[in-house]
Amino acid sequence: MTILETLAEILGPQHLLTSEADVRRYAQDWTGEWQGRPLAVARPGDTAEVASVMRACHAARQPIVPQGGNTGLVDGGVPSKDGGEIVLSLERLNHIRVIDATGFTMTVESGCILQTVIDRALAEDCFFPLSLGARGSCQIGGNVSTNAGGINVLRWGMMRDLVLGLEVVLPDGRIWDGLSALRKDNTGYDLKQIFIGAEGTLGIVTAVSLKLFPRPSQIQTCLLAVPSAAVALGLFGRARRDLCDLLSAYELLTRPCLDLVFDTYADIRDPLSEAAPCYVLLETSVSGALDLRPRLEAFLETAMEEGLVLDGAIAESEAQRTAFWRIREDLVDAQYRVAPVHLRTDVSVPQAALAEFIAEVDAAVAAQFPDMKPIVYGHVGDGNVHYNVLPGETTPAGDLGPRLKECEALLFERAAAYRGSISAEHGIGRTKRSSFLKTLPEVELSLMRGLKSLLDPQGLLAQGRVL
Ligand SMILES: Cc1cc2nc3c(=O)[nH]c(=O)nc-3n(C[C@H](O)[C@H](O)[C@H](O)COP(=O)(O)OP(=O)(O)OC[C@H]3O[C@@H](n4cnc5c(N)ncnc54)[C@H](O)[C@@H]3O)c2cc1C
Repeated sequence: MTILETLAEILGPQHLLTSEADVRRYAQDWTGEWQGRPLAVARPGDTAEVASVMRACHAARQPIVPQGGNTGLVDGGVPSKDGGEIVLSLERLNHIRVIDATGFTMTVESGCILQTVIDRALAEDCFFPLSLGARGSCQIGGNVSTNAGGINVLRWGMMRDLVLGLEVVLPDGRIWDGLSALRKDNTGYDLKQIFIGAEGTLGIVTAVSLKLFPRPSQIQTCLLAVPSAAVALGLFGRARRDLCDLLSAYELLTRPCLDLVFDTYADIRDPLSEAAPCYVLLETSVSGALDLRPRLEAFLETAMEEGLVLDGAIAESEAQRTAFWRIREDLVDAQYRVAPVHLRTDVSVPQAALAEFIAEVDAAVAAQFPDMKPIVYGHVGDGNVHYNVLPGETTPAGDLGPRLKECEALLFERAAAYRGSISAEHGIGRTKRSSFLKTLPEVELSLMRGLKSLLDPQGLLAQGRVL
């Protein structure tokens, strides 16, 4: 029997897709930037089927790549171009297994869409804090496998901080049931951590036990105009302190980001009357009776008196809050619409050095690439900035690829000077693999290779990603 016949027998032919029309949406990422050609798409319906698929692929030495919502930004879940890889789609593993509103935990299958998990928690008067622009499409298994970050990291941490336990199918088909809902467990090595952020290279995440929190009863969101990125970053520590450590989001946006969004979407308008060099989108939330609004107003009043905030608007309704967030969250899509080929980065440096880092890179880009257009924004409360670069009107199309590479090298070199990271949250995938391997210390590389060969000795899973 061929591997495809075996898989069709395991899954039923309707869940093994092979025709070009059926596999198309799994063969490229959401932007269409990366495209591959899968041998087939396997759509198992439960953990046992995932295990059978993996066992069969292991026996047949068949390469396979897991795929969640396919919103990853580093070309990890898209199949290879050679037509040799099977895509393992987790989309049918989409059940919420248990929700415990007393113990504040929830166990969900990996194909659950993040927004569904958020909504389900809210329905139980609980809160699952992971939130990112792709939440309507990305899956919990993808969030675990990329150790996703997003807008609420400064208060609740990255995905790694929100996971209590995992169920994982190993490359040879064995199932590891690590689905603990315990908050305290010091028995042996914490194995779940090696699968979080592994980008599908070590195993298939099939279910996740998550931490929940009380549902916020008040949320205050404001958009602030500030004179510079340095002021925005200086204001962060004060906002954290003065707002009783209840700050849940602190996003920086430079003016070109707002112009890009306003030019791209006619229905998004500037809530402030005058343009400023930079903006902060700040959110604070609480689940108890503490009144947030007067604290926020007092903080803004002082900051305005001192000239740190030039102007600001506080969202007066949920609709207005959504409108503010659209400016930030539609930015990723706006960049693709305006410039399908551009430099997208996701670097981090120690938070205290971020203003200096941005100023240095601004100066270097202006000197070396005066025609290019930096689009600078990010979760700066975490030291994370997306320093993206779009081609300008005069950039010759033929030079674009090499010039963007040079820009990227400049950014990575500056980030390294601050002991920063070339990937704060998107991961390595294929796109950053060579830059990652170049800088990885020998000891770290050999430990990672050791883990990979222990779990996947044939190297069949997610070939050519990360390592
Ligand atoms: C508009 C937009 C905004 C974004 N904002 C953020 C942000 O703020 N923060 C952030 O961190 N990311 C962000 N991202 C990136 C992306 O949404 C995240 O990386 C997300 O976690 C990917 O989830 P996914 O289900 O789409 O995974 P996919 O793209 O399908 O896969 C991502 C990687 O995980 C692997 N994988 C997927 N599922 C599994 C599984 N069950 N088991 C093992 N491996 C698996 C894949 O092989 C691949 O390597 C954004 C993306 C978009 C499009």
